[in-house]
Amino acid sequence: MRIIRAAKVLTGRPGEVIADGEVAIDGATIASVGPRGSAGDADEVLELPGHTVLPGLIDAHVHLGFDAKVNPVTRRSGESDHHLLLRMAENARKLVSAGVTTARDLGGRDFLDVALRDAIEEGLAVGPHLLVATRPITITGGHCWYMGGEADDEPAIRRVARENLRAGADCLKIMASGGQMTPSAPPSWIRQYSTEEIRAVVEEAATRGKGVAAHAHAHAAIRSAVEAGVATIEHCSFFTSSGHRYDAELADLVAASGTYVCPTVHGVYWRLKEQVGSEMIDAWLSGVAAMREAGIRLIAGTDCGFGSAGVDNRADEYVAGLEVFAQTGYSNAEIIELATVLAADACGVSAVTGSLAAGKRADLIAVRGDPLDRLADLRNLALVLVSGRSVTQTGVDTVTSSVG
Ligand SMILES: [Zn+2]
Repeated sequence: MRIIRAAKVLTGRPGEVIADGEVAIDGATIASVGPRGSAGDADEVLELPGHTVLPGLIDAHVHLGFDAKVNPVTRRSGESDHHLLLRMAENARKLVSAGVTTARDLGGRDFLDVALRDAIEEGLAVGPHLLVATRPITITGGHCWYMGGEADDEPAIRRVARENLRAGADCLKIMASGGQMTPSAPPSWIRQYSTEEIRAVVEEAATRGKGVAAHAHAHAAIRSAVEAGVATIEHCSFFTSSGHRYDAELADLVAASGTYVCPTVHGVYWRLKEQVGSEMIDAWLSGVAAMREAGIRLIAGTDCGFGSAGVDNRADEYVAGLEVFAQTGYSNAEIIELATVLAADACGVSAVTGSLAAGKRADLIAVRGDPLDRLADLRNLALVLVSGRSVTQTGVDTVTSSVG
């Protein structure tokens, strides 16, 4: 048994802060959480005065197979799977080194995400717990078709869904609308699937107790995703042919359904503002603020790997995305909640992680300072535990451009 003591322990339950608290860990599992002295004796005690202990952070939307060195569209002819898997492992290392202890990978090719997930669990690679969607389901030539998940009618959709589940997918991803980055795909304001087709994916996932993430920029795609009963809507940008156009009635529908929305808020937006002008970026950000006002349950996810307008979206810049949420009216306490306990619930893993309680996995971080006062303190990592194993590798030098 090990005990970690800190000036503050945030359990993840809304508003619950234990001053001068301690977390006892038995192997991979949390044994107890309470005030100093509550856990009894231990073989090892780590004292962290001036620090805050909180649940490990969750990134609900990553693409470990991409970074600035890979063009997602043309790469099929370029990088071998062997090489790509090593790149994914490096991105997973970066992610966990930013304090992310669980990440949902929402699209990649050749089931490499399954191999990486299992390698991390075995201890062969350093990274967060991964929940993997494998190949996103998309129409022929549609958004991200090159990941191998093309399907144009219901039988084909069910087949791809079942093949993904057979390969070990933890969730399914459907491209309900078009998107940027794929030249042959419909634009993001065009829907790719009907409500019935999305529902077929939800049904297939449900037979294995899994959830569905729906990529949806277009109004019609957002509506269909809600009607079909997906677990999370990705982006939810209310995009039209003339840019972002927030729809309050549709937002109310999303809020009433309880469907989680991952608006893929990331720190690249500040630099995008310089690149593409502030009008589009501000419209998007005001949409995120409006969704909060409407009572939609938003969660943290960075879409890391997919840069835009020539700006890289790095796996180790997770906290920068949380700081963008702060610009939309969220308090620091709310942001920590949407990055931990709410994200865990949205991803279907709240029974095992996302909060600190006896019996949960020992996925936690310790930071110098107090992120309730100063969100940037989440960067001052002193400790990252994934299932009780310390995996912090901040500052490790590698050959990739995005480190050091
Ligand atoms: Zn994505």
